[in-house]
Amino acid sequence: MLSAVSRPYIAASVPVLREHGVTITLCFYRRLFAAHPELKNIFNMPNQESGIQQQALASAIFAYAANIDHPDALAPVISRIAHKHVSLGIKAEHYPIVGKHLLDAIAEVLGAAATPALLAAWSEAYGMLADALIAAERALYQAHGVEPGEYRSVTVVRKQKESETVTSFYLQATDGAVLPSFQPGQYISVAVDVAELSLRQLRQYSLSDAPGNGHWRISVKREEGSPAGLVSNLLHDQYREGDVLWVSPPCGDFVMSTETADTPLVLISAGVGVTPMMSMLQGSLQQHPDRPVNFLYATLDGRHHPLKRELDRLLLQHGRMQSYVAYERPAANDCVPQDYQQQGHLRLATVPDALLPQNAAYFLCGPAPFMHAQHQALLARGVAERQIRQEVFGPSLLGHLQ
Ligand code: FAD
Repeated sequence: MLSAVSRPYIAASVPVLREHGVTITLCFYRRLFAAHPELKNIFNMPNQESGIQQQALASAIFAYAANIDHPDALAPVISRIAHKHVSLGIKAEHYPIVGKHLLDAIAEVLGAAATPALLAAWSEAYGMLADALIAAERALYQAHGVEPGEYRSVTVVRKQKESETVTSFYLQATDGAVLPSFQPGQYISVAVDVAELSLRQLRQYSLSDAPGNGHWRISVKREEGSPAGLVSNLLHDQYREGDVLWVSPPCGDFVMSTETADTPLVLISAGVGVTPMMSMLQGSLQQHPDRPVNFLYATLDGRHHPLKRELDRLLLQHGRMQSYVAYERPAANDCVPQDYQQQGHLRLATVPDALLPQNAAYFLCGPAPFMHAQHQALLARGVAERQIRQEVFGPSLLGHLQ
């Protein structure tokens, strides 16, 4: 519990953080990387360049301050961050470094308003968060049987083009050992040396296949934006069958943990957000073949429809599974209803009711506006918040607590 002395200072910081949060986090990262340039190997540097990481951290600190007396609200978020940190190899010794530069940044930006009492309150609040994360991360490292920061080497045993922009990489342990199992929906971090930055960069990729198949599979979308995505393009262009990658243990709490075998599943995804859903779909069909699973998917057109053949094969094999696909701009050779059932963006309001049962567990993954729209549509249909879980393919931290 935060002390009674510190509580009013943290509460009073909420509006200040709302106003100055991004300035503080910009200052924080500048100080951190000046003192510890080696930490650039852990952080996603394009996210620094674009400013998205600073915004995410600012909203995280703000949300933490606003919810500091609500441990129930913080607990699931701490769990999610701990999983991400374990995939990144964060160590307990990183926390005092981050704490020092965060407090220095608050002092620099707020100037005279950063009184010793305010800084002491933030030191206490940061210490509480750090302790909770360190404990959660220690438990995860122990469960995986790895040291913090320990990656394992895997060999690309097969590379398979899945669509215009997505390619799958099938991975096996380089030393011939059996790769650990994982829970459908989890991801690994992949470490790649980026010559143009003279840095190692880490990216997360969801495991896109069921566990127990003798390999791990990731399916990577080539990020074609401007500038082009660093790691995804390197993986597509430079990693071939036989090459070695360094990867983290499987992490993430976007998993089917609380559902029973008779809870229907509804998996709703768009674009490359299909990857954890394919794993969940296959995992569910393997473990509980009688459980109804509805697979809703949105993409541009048939040429941008990864893993379609796999999905079609599963549909033929499993009578309890239903699929519903929206193509935003179908090509001339994309056919209704074989390839897609809805044109334009996926609109749940027009999806048949049978695909969206009231008692189902709902899993969402895709671009942020897509997830926001589906989330709102589900709530409007009377689905409860607790029935909906989401995975964000980018920095999110505590932002949704605000
Ligand atoms: P980056 O180099 O990191 O660039 C990302 C984007 O930022 C690009 O669009 C780029 O154009 C833009 N950008 C770069 N610099 C700037 C700048 N200065 N200003 C403005 N914009 C800029 N991806 C998959 O393909 N498959 C998956 O299964 C998958 N699973 C994920 C699971 C999780 C839990 C998470 C968090 C992410 C997942 N991702 C997945 C996303 C993946 O981790 C990477 O973010 C993605 O591959 C892009 O990485 P990159 O290095 O290619 O791009």
